[in-house]
Amino acid sequence: MRTKRDLPTNSLLLTFDDGYIDHYLNVFPILMANKIRGLFAVPGKPLTENKVLAVNKIHFILAIVGEDRKQDLLATVYKLLNRYRGTEFDFPSNEELYDKLAIANRFDDKDIIFIKRLLQMELPEWVRDRIIDDLFRIYIPISEGAFSRELYMNFEQIRLMKRSGMDFAVHGYEHYWLGKLTQREMKKDINKSLETLEGIVDSNDWTMVFPYGSYNPEVLAYISDKGCKLGFTTEVRVADLQADTPLVLPRLDTTDFPPQSENYLEIT
Ligand SMILES: [Zn+2]
Repeated sequence: MRTKRDLPTNSLLLTFDDGYIDHYLNVFPILMANKIRGLFAVPGKPLTENKVLAVNKIHFILAIVGEDRKQDLLATVYKLLNRYRGTEFDFPSNEELYDKLAIANRFDDKDIIFIKRLLQMELPEWVRDRIIDDLFRIYIPISEGAFSRELYMNFEQIRLMKRSGMDFAVHGYEHYWLGKLTQREMKKDINKSLETLEGIVDSNDWTMVFPYGSYNPEVLAYISDKGCKLGFTTEVRVADLQADTPLVLPRLDTTDFPPQSENYLEIT
């Protein structure tokens, strides 16, 4: 985009989010064997603190509970909501929360959507993190540190990939919805994520992959100030390098291709 040069027809950029060990063990060798450069968006917290991102804790709790123990999980969530309600701030009753959030979509039923939306964005951050940690301890039988080391890439692996020609992008520190944070929280998260990836990304020319595709004008102004030149969202569309803004490029997800979807058959 910067040089205004044309890319070959049907050019693709492959992006891989969240820094999973799977990207090192499986994706990296395939890209190397095919002489393809990939862009890997890595959140900071798992790397520096051996923690598991809240979004991944929710995924694994739901997976391990499955259909069989879903009602048990729901009851535990209600119990924890009651425990924390009114302790620091207040939030609505369990019934009100369920009515507001439990709207089934094409991927999940009402109960699952309720738990996901409640824990991903509805509750204030302090209570959300506490409930997720409580659920993690109740349902996941190994320690968070051990789990984190099994789930994510480490610095050594990232440096090896970098030396082999792979590209890395900033993906936040806590993997928050950046567009929903206060300005102070947003700046803190971006700065921490940049510190974590020092030496791995170029501080004057780095790429942002917005967690959940979330941003707002303040986020864009701030990252631009900090040397970000390219950004990727979760808007589902083929990028148009003549017309699109470099900081908010759209992407296609694997689920936009067969067998899940036939929307972009012409690309395959
Ligand atoms: Zn992500």
